[in-house]
Amino acid sequence: MTLTEDDARRRDAADPGHRDLFHIPPADGGRYAEVAYLAGNSLGLQPKATRADLLDDLDEWARLGVEGHLEAGRPWLPYHEFLTEYAARLVGALACEAVVMNSLTVNLHLLMVSFYRPRGERNRIVIEDSAFPSDSYAVRSQARFHGFDPDETVVRLRPRPGEDTLRTEDIVDYLGADGDRVALVLLGGVNYLTGELMDIPAITEAGRAAGAIVGWDLAHAAGNVPLQLHEWGVDFAAWCSYKYLNSGPGALAGAFVHSRHLDDPTIQRFEGWWSTDPATRFEMTPVSRPLARADAWQVSNPPIYAMGPVRTSLEIFAQVGMPALRARSERLTGYLEQLIDEVTAARTVTLVTPRDPGRRGCQLSLRIGSGSASELAKRLRHEHGVITDAREPDIVRVAPAPLYSTYHDCWRVAEALAHTIEEVR
Ligand SMILES: *Cc1c(COP(=O)(O)O)cnc(C)c1O
Repeated sequence: MTLTEDDARRRDAADPGHRDLFHIPPADGGRYAEVAYLAGNSLGLQPKATRADLLDDLDEWARLGVEGHLEAGRPWLPYHEFLTEYAARLVGALACEAVVMNSLTVNLHLLMVSFYRPRGERNRIVIEDSAFPSDSYAVRSQARFHGFDPDETVVRLRPRPGEDTLRTEDIVDYLGADGDRVALVLLGGVNYLTGELMDIPAITEAGRAAGAIVGWDLAHAAGNVPLQLHEWGVDFAAWCSYKYLNSGPGALAGAFVHSRHLDDPTIQRFEGWWSTDPATRFEMTPVSRPLARADAWQVSNPPIYAMGPVRTSLEIFAQVGMPALRARSERLTGYLEQLIDEVTAARTVTLVTPRDPGRRGCQLSLRIGSGSASELAKRLRHEHGVITDAREPDIVRVAPAPLYSTYHDCWRVAEALAHTIEEVR
């Protein structure tokens, strides 16, 4: 390779990121002490601060019992509020529009209870054909819940023949032509499979102009690309916190509801005691009085030991800031793209992710011409200590996470691919 290992090391010295804040999994033998971890799009790494913060919260329970609700250093009753500002800043929301709660698909369902409101001919739900399966199952079950046939009600947008990613103009054209039949548009902000960053403001505008509600699944966008949900007029959104947000497996998710919906009395919601105004929560009255905040979509009292790691992690994002992270992300992913082009030039590997940095986050998805993607990922891991992520039959996803991934990690992936691809074929 013309891009050398020394060159990667020099780039790391000049542009170090925040790797020291994270536990990097050790390698199981081989030339390097640590694995090259490029699977932060699947499960982010553990911040070093998480353990001590979590133990602090746990100690408060031992020390205080029930009094911890009010007397803990971070009292449990308002605990979710300690996360709100951070979550709002991350997605470009007003503080009243964001809340951390539940898990992602649960939030999608709770939000669809409010925002999938089919009326007459306007009953369709538009998703991308390559939507993450959970989203597909969620919208199909919502369609059935309303008495519709999901095969007719759920519209799956496909790329043009021979293309891998959706074109904004095709989505906008569809919404212009058939938009009066559409009740809800629910797309991934960054597609999990292709890594394509959608034009969220343009599609939101087109969907709303057609009279539809526009929601976004930001599982692969939150902590990966800058977001301005309020300004873009997005109706609602949800995201998980275990991918780029590094809050641990199954971590609590986020939800966004645009302020224009917050005090709309016609919007239905499934409620519980955490939906009501906290000032009246312990009056134990039979009727809830929700505030005009996304908090009103909460149902139960939150699991403190799951909230803690989200708070710890979002603090890192608040300190570093998305603009700086995004800038480093573009440098790292651009470098990885260069390396991969070099090692795959003569071989049957194609880049599925758009080449325009404005149309992707940090993930690059590679289609391997033949052989099994998971077989390739297995060999990268066991023979080279390189952690990637395979989606059968033929996609390998490689994501340098800008907080902790290095140029050297990128170099290691490319070198490992150069050794492995020919043999897998
Ligand atoms: C990761 C991911 C999910 C996972 O859903 P959970 O409810 O967190 O299990 C759902 N949708 C998308 C688009 C994802 O990327």
